[in-house]
Amino acid sequence: MTENTSDLRTLWITALTRIEPTITRAHFVTWFQKTLATSVKVLGEERILVVGVPTIFAKDWISGKYAVKVLQAVQEIDPTLSNVEFEVVSRLADVQSSEGIDVSQITSRQEKKVRKVRNENEVDIGNGMKSKMLNYRYTLNNFIVGKDNRLPHAAATAVANMPGGIYNPLYIYGGVGLGKTHLLQAIGNEILKISPEKTVRYVTAEKFVNEVVIGITNRSMAKFKEQYRKGVDILLIDDVQFFGKKTSSQEEFFHTFNELYDANKQIVMTSDRPPSELGNLDDRLVSRFGMGMVTELSLPDFETKLAILQEKCMESGVIIDNEILEFVAGNVNTNIRELVGVLRQIIAESQLENRVPTIRTAAEVFKKLYKAQEIIGYEVERKKIEGRAVTPKDVVDIVASYYRVTSDDLVGEKRDREVMVPRQVCMYLIRHELNQSFERIGEDFGGRNHTTVMNACKKVVNKLKADSKLVKDINAIKKEIGL
Ligand code: ADP
Ligand code: MG
Repeated sequence: MTENTSDLRTLWITALTRIEPTITRAHFVTWFQKTLATSVKVLGEERILVVGVPTIFAKDWISGKYAVKVLQAVQEIDPTLSNVEFEVVSRLADVQSSEGIDVSQITSRQEKKVRKVRNENEVDIGNGMKSKMLNYRYTLNNFIVGKDNRLPHAAATAVANMPGGIYNPLYIYGGVGLGKTHLLQAIGNEILKISPEKTVRYVTAEKFVNEVVIGITNRSMAKFKEQYRKGVDILLIDDVQFFGKKTSSQEEFFHTFNELYDANKQIVMTSDRPPSELGNLDDRLVSRFGMGMVTELSLPDFETKLAILQEKCMESGVIIDNEILEFVAGNVNTNIRELVGVLRQIIAESQLENRVPTIRTAAEVFKKLYKAQEIIGYEVERKKIEGRAVTPKDVVDIVASYYRVTSDDLVGEKRDREVMVPRQVCMYLIRHELNQSFERIGEDFGGRNHTTVMNACKKVVNKLKADSKLVKDINAIKKEIGL
């Protein structure tokens, strides 16, 4: 029987709930994380359950230590299975993938109850289970509105201000990484801000499905139902396309939905597709999804992307030149998660190298992430001044003219403020852009000691962290030099 993916998934979650109490928590989480029963192989009389595991280590460890336990557990559920095999399925290790089972949710233990400090990101959902709650970072305020996402944002705002009103249920759909989870959680955060006494439940459809399965296995469905239907004012449910063919969970959700809806409780759902395209879902459910408001998120235009990048920089407290943000916005045309991902990578790389991000840092990140993609607005080869490579002398001349001092003063002895900063900038650029040694730079600057040069560069690096004017100056100079 256990042939189709959703049955296999259910079977495997059930097996995991049985294995879990028999081994240490640490081992359970380490070795069974992101595993999944993938198929049943039939060899003559034999029916072998194939279990995918994310790494070769997990495969070795599970087949070496837990093969018998696993077999026992699956045979209790399906006695026709005669054996279990493990195979490495590397896509399960992909952090973006939710294919393998997240075993952190499977627990029979009481330890969470005695934990003294509550994790603020969790709420009880009964059964000793916790639900990852709202991420306070997702708000309606920091969701940037452009012409392509105005409607979903307006609907979300309306719902937050009047839950259970005309936009009930609210159904937001759109491709991956376009801000569905952000908006959904923002609604929850806003409602809690306005009415802290309300109970907001955020759950992914996947988690809901797992909980139903666990509830059935542990015979704790009554409690589960109670928790979802009675104790909830607002239900936020993410990625409903996941209900797919999982009939018992669909049925469960259907009842939850109806009960909440009839009691005028707000329901908000997200999905990667419109209700009409949720092929595997019961028609009754689909038509109810469309009763309130259905709205689509799509990839925003350039200006909105830029505004999102600026917002994220502000949130992380970093200053990045607009030119670089424009460069990033112009080059990411997939989704916002990637847009933000590229920005994070740029920030990380520049922190690692202890230098302010440049177009080059950004271009390098692109080169790494999208090997084949053409990068718009940047020539990977270093530009040449009139056909030859840039020399330290060029840098000195351009910095001097930028700050309106003379080149001689820059490399000379003068110690007034007007030349000190330009001199430091100059040393910094020669060091970081032309990779000259500190000694060599010292020689070019009137025979200064290499530690003097080192300190000058350090000073610039430090100042760049807080001084946006300096960032602008340096970027402007670099542009002039062609770096
Ligand atoms: P989805 O759930 O649609 O896959 P997410 O809500 O997880 O996408 O969004 C991915 C990332 O993009 C998050 O970091 C989110 O904050 C950000 N994001 C998406 N849209 C916006 C927006 N309009 N303004 C600000 N940040 C956004
Ligand atoms: Mg999401």
